[in-house]
Amino acid sequence: MNDVRFGWAVEVCRGGQGKACRFSLDVPQNFLHRLDQAVLESGWPEFVQTHVGQSPSHHALFRMALAGCANACSRPQIMDLGLLRAERPEVERNRCSGCGLCALACPEKSIEMVSLGDDGLQCPQIDYGQCLCCGRCVAACPEGAMEAGESGWRVVLGGRLGRMPSLAIELPGLYSDDAALGLTNIILQRFMRHWQPGLRFRSLLDELGVEKMIRGLLD
Ligand code: SF4
Ligand code: SF4
Ligand code: SF4
Repeated sequence: MNDVRFGWAVEVCRGGQGKACRFSLDVPQNFLHRLDQAVLESGWPEFVQTHVGQSPSHHALFRMALAGCANACSRPQIMDLGLLRAERPEVERNRCSGCGLCALACPEKSIEMVSLGDDGLQCPQIDYGQCLCCGRCVAACPEGAMEAGESGWRVVLGGRLGRMPSLAIELPGLYSDDAALGLTNIILQRFMRHWQPGLRFRSLLDELGVEKMIRGLLD
């Protein structure tokens, strides 16, 4: 689903819309509505109307994507702002049988089975630097020993296609619903403050740097 609003557009994958998808994580039902509200409250639509006019071109839109998991079917990596639903897996060692199914289920090979004691039992060790928080290991565990810990959104910024294509840059960590919406508002405020005709969001991001762009939210 690619919905164009006045001055912005949101592409949402099946899982993000609440439709059946076996990989989808738990996307809050009203999140898309809240995202629309965050854009409206930022003043972006009025800004576009004043500075661009009633019929903004494709390039003048602020483009966003929501994805229900790390598979990223709505292509957040090429949007100005992309949100990917995520949950960080955590091992409950007392319940783990050492079967290794979680490691087999991980497409990124982010889980290594290691011996932690003298009893020869193996236990999963997660490389969080490589983990995409996709939840497949959680779904694969027959003992309920791989649990969903913190859940929220991975946030990527500044993707674009066109003459100078760039993939979006991922911010560190996971963001709660409120934090992701606050970030959306701040980003649009920064964009409006520095806006010039023809300026693409990625160009501003490259000029200011990610930290300056989002300063205030992460302090
Ligand atoms: S991004 Fe994930 S949840 Fe969304 S449609 Fe693709 S596989 Fe399903
Ligand atoms: S959440 Fe996904 S990427 Fe991370 S360890 Fe589990 S299966 Fe691998
Ligand atoms: S799938 Fe579950 S029980 Fe099996 S090794 Fe992984 S965490 Fe342990």
